[in-house]
Amino acid sequence: MTSIEQAAPVTNNFLRTIIDEDLKSGKHAGIVTRFPPEPNGYLHIGHAKSICINFGLARDFGGRCHLRFDDTNPAKEEQEYIDSIKENVRWLGFDWGEHLHYASDNFEQLYCWAVYLIKQGKAYVEDLNAEQIRAYRGTLTEAGTESPYRTRSVEENLDLFGRMRAGEFPDGSRVLRAKIDMAAPNINLRDPVLYRIIHAPHPHVGDAWKIYPMYDFAHGQTDAIEEITHSICTLEFESHKPLYEWFLDNLPVPARPRQYEFARLNLTYTVMSKRKLQELVQLGIVSGWDDPRMPTLVGIRRRGYTPDAVRAFCEMIGVGRSDSWIDVAILEECVRADLNDSAPRAMAVLRPIKLVIDNYPAGQTEEFQASNHPQKPEMGSRSINFSRELWIDSDDFMEVPSKGFHRLTVGGEVKLRCGYIITCTGVVKDSEGAILELHGDYDPASREGIHTADGRKVKGVIHWVSAVHAITAEVRLFDRLFSDPNPDRGGADYKQFLNPNSVETLSDCKLEASLAGAETETRYQFERQGYFRLDPKDTRPGTPVFNRIVTLRDVWTKK
Ligand code: ATP
Ligand code: MG
Repeated sequence: MTSIEQAAPVTNNFLRTIIDEDLKSGKHAGIVTRFPPEPNGYLHIGHAKSICINFGLARDFGGRCHLRFDDTNPAKEEQEYIDSIKENVRWLGFDWGEHLHYASDNFEQLYCWAVYLIKQGKAYVEDLNAEQIRAYRGTLTEAGTESPYRTRSVEENLDLFGRMRAGEFPDGSRVLRAKIDMAAPNINLRDPVLYRIIHAPHPHVGDAWKIYPMYDFAHGQTDAIEEITHSICTLEFESHKPLYEWFLDNLPVPARPRQYEFARLNLTYTVMSKRKLQELVQLGIVSGWDDPRMPTLVGIRRRGYTPDAVRAFCEMIGVGRSDSWIDVAILEECVRADLNDSAPRAMAVLRPIKLVIDNYPAGQTEEFQASNHPQKPEMGSRSINFSRELWIDSDDFMEVPSKGFHRLTVGGEVKLRCGYIITCTGVVKDSEGAILELHGDYDPASREGIHTADGRKVKGVIHWVSAVHAITAEVRLFDRLFSDPNPDRGGADYKQFLNPNSVETLSDCKLEASLAGAETETRYQFERQGYFRLDPKDTRPGTPVFNRIVTLRDVWTKK
């Protein structure tokens, strides 16, 4: 881990500076950016950074941002991913307007450009197989070796490339390569592959093609076709930049975009590689791509993270050019800050224990008004039912109190949030000594405050629900999927760092009656417990399932 960046709001960054100068100098009249996913998986929080950068720059500088699928490999791409990517970019709050593009829409143009290179003597059909190409490529310290097929005539190359397109040859039997320099210090320039044969239907263009361009041959030219001004990508593409520019220099492209690289997002306690996320799904370690513990957008969204919180996080971490690690606690803090502001409060007892108020008449109920947000009267209030039998959280009772425990003990007093002060008078146990229920008395004079009838102040306040009115729910307490800050460190198997307690399922939770009308899109603060939302997938009529989005406070940094 190189450093943990501090959560300081960043108003400027090197990309803004560059764009500012390009607009001032008149180099560009307006800016055009793009977010260019390959539709071969689900988006994750790292992609959110790229989305926020590209769409954010376009928004802030009055330009536009395209959503472009770099769909050059039909073997790995699916419509399902295309749909999910579109849906999640929208969820983050961004809009590409009319500018939904596919690299595959340019396949005919790219093919013509490949033919153009062949005619210029700058591309050739290669018969060596993948392994041989690798062996001929050389190493970082040794130049590569030229292929015996490098000197094929233009006519032969045109003929073979045409027949590759026509589907005459099997997968992997031939490729088209650029003829650049097998001794170039940058290995990407050692006659890179431009086209390969893949007999597979494509999710966007169907059966039209038997050959597909490599990512590098499609990406920059597609940027040029779309007249992208600032082509923003992550640092690993820095070594591809000379190739990106070689294509622009050697083809009659309509524009000359410039590539800029930024540091990708790395989050502690998280893996982000598509391959590893896929493995977690395939091995059944998580329930799917949208498991609420996954760093995918479908996962954090199902868990209850809000787009506002994710955007605030991306703004906060800023954009730099040096690789660093961001503490996942910063993301969680952004979620908390957003929800603290917006989430209505409710009472929920997660580990219920019965408390019988002996001096309260059986069959009687009364209602208290509870405000939905302590700082926001405009969010209104709701009524809370009180009756003789209540549920309280077993954590709020200690038979033998430890030092500093201010909640309920035998003989002790506690204030019921928005309700009466009660005294615990006794404990009923089974033959094994396990607590069956608690008994107590209430103080009728304490309805409105924290003072008893004789004027004593009570320290502890606990949440509760009325047993006859409560609804029963399942609550899933999610924690970090990994217990090590860097599960992705080289060498070790990241799976050994899985947190064995990353989810705790509580099936008999008692919730205040108003939550029977809970809405999937509303995030609630269960008082003293954290932020929760209804699980949109597993909730059934009459059997609510709530996900814990985040705890009320950071419990990890202390560990
Ligand atoms: P692959 O390994 O399949 O290429 P990828 O994560 O790079 O996976 P892409 O669909 O190519 O997936 O990514 C789309 C865009 O998101 C690219 O511009 C990429 O640079 C950017 N991106 C990917 N991961 C991150 C990350 N962790 N932080 C910031 N940007 C990212
Ligand atoms: Mg990529």
